[in-house]
Formats: sequence, structure tokens, C-alpha cells
Amino acid sequence: MKIFEYAKADSPEAAVADIGAGTKFIAGGTNLLDLMKLQIETPDKLVDISRLDLAAIEDTADGGVSIGALVPNSDLAADRRIIAGYPVLSRALLAGASGQLRNKATTGGNLLQRTRCYYFYDTAMACNKRAPGSGCSAIGGFNRILAILGTSEQCIATHPSDMAVAMRALDATIVTLKPDGDKRRIAIGDFYRLPGDTPQIETVLKPGELITHVELPPPPKGAQLYRKVRDRASYAFALVSLAGIISVENGKISVAALAFGGLGPMPWRDAAVEAALIGQPPSTATFEAAADALLADARGFGSNDFKIPLTRRLLIACLRDLTDAPGNAR
Ligand SMILES: Cc1cc2nc3c(=O)[nH]c(=O)nc-3n(C[C@H](O)[C@H](O)[C@H](O)COP(=O)(O)OP(=O)(O)OC[C@H]3O[C@@H](n4cnc5c(N)ncnc54)[C@H](O)[C@@H]3O)c2cc1C
Ligand code: SF4
Repeated sequence: MKIFEYAKADSPEAAVADIGAGTKFIAGGTNLLDLMKLQIETPDKLVDISRLDLAAIEDTADGGVSIGALVPNSDLAADRRIIAGYPVLSRALLAGASGQLRNKATTGGNLLQRTRCYYFYDTAMACNKRAPGSGCSAIGGFNRILAILGTSEQCIATHPSDMAVAMRALDATIVTLKPDGDKRRIAIGDFYRLPGDTPQIETVLKPGELITHVELPPPPKGAQLYRKVRDRASYAFALVSLAGIISVENGKISVAALAFGGLGPMPWRDAAVEAALIGQPPSTATFEAAADALLADARGFGSNDFKIPLTRRLLIACLRDLTDAPGNAR
């Protein structure tokens, strides 16, 4: 591991002060330390933010909740307000990693964890995300876990977070503090970037910008579920996952919010899928139309072709369960 400077911050303002180009924040360290050991992240300085006063879950004036960036994933999953109002989020968190990791992993760190593409972690292989301009070993290589939507000729990696998928369905807002002292609020739908020609730039965060909170709007109407398809029953990243919120009123779907993991470079949400559902009666024809809308532009790269029919079946099964849920009687 490269030698680096280490500093502990005692306030968010102190954390963002004196940020240089080679500075990284460290929270739980469960992703960053692994990347440093492999020489994939090589910061000159680490600013330890783990002791900042950002570990509370609080009610907001509009009936939603504010989640501090340092709330551990396990505390968030167990919070009574999250279980009651946002069960999709609690279930997504519990579907991620292991108990020990969830105790260390933080809300901000989880949103910013890097892809699990095998070639990104193998410094002997070409990877445009790790070494811009070097090429992409996954295109034409072994790409079983990689993306079928939102890819570019430069990168086909997926975003690995389960939590972020639920937050995308819930329309979360990410609150940040910039080095100049300005705060900003970023809708999660605007937070992640498609890879295009610059796959190494994954979010709209500016250098040195600290996530301080994530805000959720008031609990949505309707049934919620999180379902994750993976190679093992636990301790594995998603091949495909779905965070769904559906309400049925007077025999028609009135609310539809669906976000997918394992399909794209960001928690994936597609307005066309929701438009295909809203105002329609729950039926196999309606669910198939939604799957057609989602997968119209899907492209497999060989070993991950199976994700296309798998996603179709997962979506249709989840829509059936959501529209059959108590309170959503047809
Ligand atoms: C074996 C294993 C299995 C896993 N399985 C899953 C899984 O199934 N599903 C899943 O979702 N995740 C999984 N994870 C990933 C795990 O959830 C993440 O490593 C964790 O959430 C990262 O949080 P952290 O606090 O440790 O982040 P860190 O490692 O401390 O930081 C990660 C990145 O975020 C930046 N950062 C952290 N906090 C902030 C902040 N407040 N503002 C700005 N930047 C910040 C850091 O600079 C760094 O770049 C797994 C991890 C491991 C090791
Ligand atoms: S898919 Fe992206 S992360 Fe994986 S090797 Fe290609 S450029 Fe690197």
C-alpha cells in the first residue's frame, strides 16, 4: 500500500477544508481499504469522517426522514420508521453483504462504493474505469455479472449497491457540503452518471464534496418489496434486483415506482416502464408491456445474455405479488 497522510475530522466543515486533489474521505472503510490494498485507489491523504456527528435518523418537517451519512447499514435497516414506512429500504439493506459488513458500512459509503467488475479489481487487465484509455477487458471477456442497460463502448460495469436501488425507487435526495461551504441537494435520479466516454466519473459530486445526509420523502402509498436474484442465498451481489412500490385503486394501477439493480451502471429506473403500468388494470398483458418497455434497449455481451429473460421473469413475478398484496386487491 502506498504511504499516505491520515487526518481525523471533528466537524463536516473541517472535513472539507484543506482538501487536495489526492484526498479521500474514509467512513466504514469496507470498500476503500480493499481498493487501497490493491493499489486501485492511491490517495495521498485520508480524511477520517467516521467520528462526525452524522449518524442520526431524524424526522423531517414534511413527514419524511433524514438519514445521516454515517448511519450504519444495520442501524438503518432496523430503524422502526424505516421498517414501517420504507420496508423496501430495510429489505434491500438486509439483502446486502453480511451482518459484520453492515455494522461497518455507512449510508454515504454505500452510495459511493465502486463496481464489482472483476477486471476493475485486477490491475493486470485493461480497464477504462481504473485506467482511462486502457480499454475494457469485460467487453468480449467474462461478463456474467455486468450490465445490459446504459452501457457504452468504454464500460459495461454495474453499480453494486442494494441500498441505492431502494433509495432510487423512493426518490431520495442526497444532501452535500462543498469545500466552499455551500450545501446542495441532489435528487438521486441526477446523482449517478452513465459511463459514456468517461466511466471513471461515476457521480456528479465535485472533488472534496462530502455527503452529509440522505433525505426520504414521506412514506409512499402502496405495497413495497425488494427482491434480489444472486448466485448464493446470502453474501453475494445482485445479478438482478428490483425495488418496487405499487398502489392499485379502483382496479387500476395508480402508483408505480420501480428501480433495478444489477442491470446498469447506476440504480436503474425507466419512466417508460412506469408509464406502461399507470392507469392500467393489473394483468399479465400489462406486466408484459412493462417488461417490453424496460428491455427494449437491453443488450447482452455474451456471458450476461441470461439477464434479459431473467429480468423479464423477475419483473412480471414482482408485479404480480405487488398488485396482489393486501390493500391492493384487484
Ligand atoms: C465481501 C463484501 C460483500 C458485499 N456485498 C454487498 C452487497 O451484497 N450489496 C451491497 O450493497 N454492498 C455490498 N458490499 C459493499 C458494502 O456495502 C460497501 O463496501 C459499503 O457500503 C461501503 O461503505 P463504507 O462506509 O465502508 O465506505 P468506505 O469504504 O469508507 O468508502 C467508500 C467510498 O465512499 C467515499 N465516501 C464515504 N463516505 C462518504 C461521504 N459521506 N461523503 C463523500 N464520500 C464518501 C469514500 O471516499 C470511498 O470512495 C459488500 C462488501 C464486501 C467487502
Ligand atoms: S466494464 Fe468497466 S469496470 Fe469492467 S473492465 Fe470494462 S471499463 Fe473496467
